Amino acid sequence: MPRRSPAWTYDELVLACTLVVDNGWRELRENDRRVQELSQLLRRLPLHGTAAEEIPSFRSVGSVSRKTTDLATNRSDYAGKRTKGGKLDLAVIDAFISDPARMRKAASAIAAGIATGELTQIPEQPDEVADDGTTTAMEGRLLMRWAIARERSPKLRRRKIQDVRAHGSPLRCEVCTFDFERFYGELGHEYIEVHHTLPLYVAGPRETRLDDLALLCSNCHRMCHRNHSGESWRTPDELRACIQTPVRLTDEQG
Ligand SMILES: [Zn+2]
Ligand SMILES: [Zn+2]
Repeated sequence: MPRRSPAWTYDELVLACTLVVDNGWRELRENDRRVQELSQLLRRLPLHGTAAEEIPSFRSVGSVSRKTTDLATNRSDYAGKRTKGGKLDLAVIDAFISDPARMRKAASAIAAGIATGELTQIPEQPDEVADDGTTTAMEGRLLMRWAIARERSPKLRRRKIQDVRAHGSPLRCEVCTFDFERFYGELGHEYIEVHHTLPLYVAGPRETRLDDLALLCSNCHRMCHRNHSGESWRTPDELRACIQTPVRLTDEQG
C-alpha cells in the first residue's frame, strides 16, 4: 500500500493562500504556472520528512489547485458553493483577512529561506510548536524555527553581551530584571538569553542589529515564544504588559 500524503500544515496553507489572495481570492487551475511553482516549493519544505521522495502525488499540481479552491470558497463572505475546508484552512483564511501584508511577508520569507537553502538546513527547534503539538504562531512553524535557531548563535550573544557591558549596564532580564549572577553567584556569571524583538520576516535577510536583540531570563524568553493560535511571538514590552500584580510571600501566608 503506498503511503497517503500527510495533511496540509499551517505553513503550507500560508503559501497556498498567498496565491489565492494575489489572485483576487479566486482558485487557481492546475495549468497555472504559479500552481506548478508552488507544488515544487512545497515538495522541498522541511516539514514532512521523506514524503516527497516516497509519494509521487505528494503536493501535486492537482492537490495544490484543489487546496486553492478550499481556501477561496471558505472565506466567510463567499457566496457560491463551498468545498469542505478544515479548521486550519479557516485559521489561515482568518489570518490573511486580519493582516494580509504580514502574512504575505511571512510567505515570501519562507520561500526565500528555501530558495537560499538556509531554512532547509535548520533542525527542528523545541519551541517551534505549542505543547499540544499543533498550534503555531501566526507566521507559521518554519519562520519560528529559523528565528529560534538564529537567536542561539553564540557569536551574536557574545556581541550583545559585550555591547551591554560597554554601556555599563547590568546583565539582567529586560522584562522582570532577574539577574543570574546576583541570584546564583559565580554559577550565573554572564548567563542570559538573547531574543529577537523583530520577527525575521519583518527584518528581512539583513545582518541582525544589536538593537533588535533583547536580553531575557529563561522564563521570560519562553513566554515570549509561547505559541498561541493566531498570535505572533511577543516583544519584551508586550510580555511586560502581561505580568500580573506580583504576589508577595507574606500576603500568601497572611
Ligand atoms: Zn525575566
Ligand atoms: Zn527569542
